[in-house]
Amino acid sequence: MKRRQWLKWGCAQCAGLAGFSLAGRALAQAEPVPVGADWSAPERFSRPRLEDEEGGIWALMDREETRLRRSPFRMRDARLEQYLLEVCCKLAGAHCPDIRVYAIRQPFFNASMAPNGMMQVWSGLLLRVENEAQLAAVLGHEIGHYVQRHSLEQLRDVRARMGVAQFMSVFGLAGQLGGLAAMAGGLAYSRDHERDADQIGVLLMRRAGYDTREAHKIWSNLQAEQKANPNFSTPNTLFASHPASDERRETLIRLTAADSGETYEAQYRAIIAPWRSTLLEDEMKRSRPSESLALFQRLLEREPGDPLLLHYRGEAYRLRAGENDMNLAVADYQAAIDSGRAQAGTWRALGQTRLKLGQAQAGQQALNNYLNLAPQAPDSDMIKLLLEGAR
Ligand SMILES: [Zn+2]
Repeated sequence: MKRRQWLKWGCAQCAGLAGFSLAGRALAQAEPVPVGADWSAPERFSRPRLEDEEGGIWALMDREETRLRRSPFRMRDARLEQYLLEVCCKLAGAHCPDIRVYAIRQPFFNASMAPNGMMQVWSGLLLRVENEAQLAAVLGHEIGHYVQRHSLEQLRDVRARMGVAQFMSVFGLAGQLGGLAAMAGGLAYSRDHERDADQIGVLLMRRAGYDTREAHKIWSNLQAEQKANPNFSTPNTLFASHPASDERRETLIRLTAADSGETYEAQYRAIIAPWRSTLLEDEMKRSRPSESLALFQRLLEREPGDPLLLHYRGEAYRLRAGENDMNLAVADYQAAIDSGRAQAGTWRALGQTRLKLGQAQAGQQALNNYLNLAPQAPDSDMIKLLLEGAR
């Protein structure tokens, strides 16, 4: 089927959605198996009939997937998306052929999987997880929701609560920041679903040979970031759709205490390396410097002296601009430069910050170094003007 025809087909289904009965909850497929130590995933799901309620939800998700596929927020890195799919497949086993993964450039910690097999992984998650095992913990949890059909139930409930028109409008926004956030944040899972998905995630990780003890660290790390922000109000998107609690974290610790396995940290870093600078830059655009500082601090503990991380921690200090923050920023930029591996932009940041601190001579020198290292930089004329003004 050609794309245009396919789109028409998708929209024809959407228009018909309003007619579906919410009372008719009969599923064409078997009910999920209760989660226990001997749990095994149900058979692959077949595409539901379009005239069924579930068929309508699938059609809607198919339409969303078309938008997502063409969204300007998609990272369009075939190697990265293939890698994410391979991790999903290590976990999902027989369900692998039904999963499609999209890496989305959004600086929040989020992943979600729709009932039709569409998985989204946001770049804020990629920046934050420390190895493949942590990534697998999140993806395994999402696959848990999928195989137990939680996402289907959740979508039904949300649609019943919102009414069809509002429900459609939330999804219609996907591809825009607001829509993606609403899609992730508006759909919270129940406590029972979270517990089941956590348990399945651990089982799938263990069977795939991952170190399950990495799973609980994700929550500790996210909590540390949130606590760092004294004016914390908007929850992180994953907290919103998968409500985290100390109880969940402690259960994960208990479930995995006797385990061991692989973390695949080097493999993970190699895949993310080409994106690192972009992801750190995007993180700054959230304008939550206290949270970013907690994040960069943690990443620096794993990679002490990394010049890119030092540069961005400096940027976060500069943005926060609290007492002594400018001096801390200078120290970080300088440490990055002293490593001999700093980008030219670190000289610019150092120069601008020194000028702000009234250190005219050192500031000018740093900006001159920047111009020497990056003579073709798009802002070189502006920096020259700044230097002339400072004279
Ligand atoms: Zn969840």
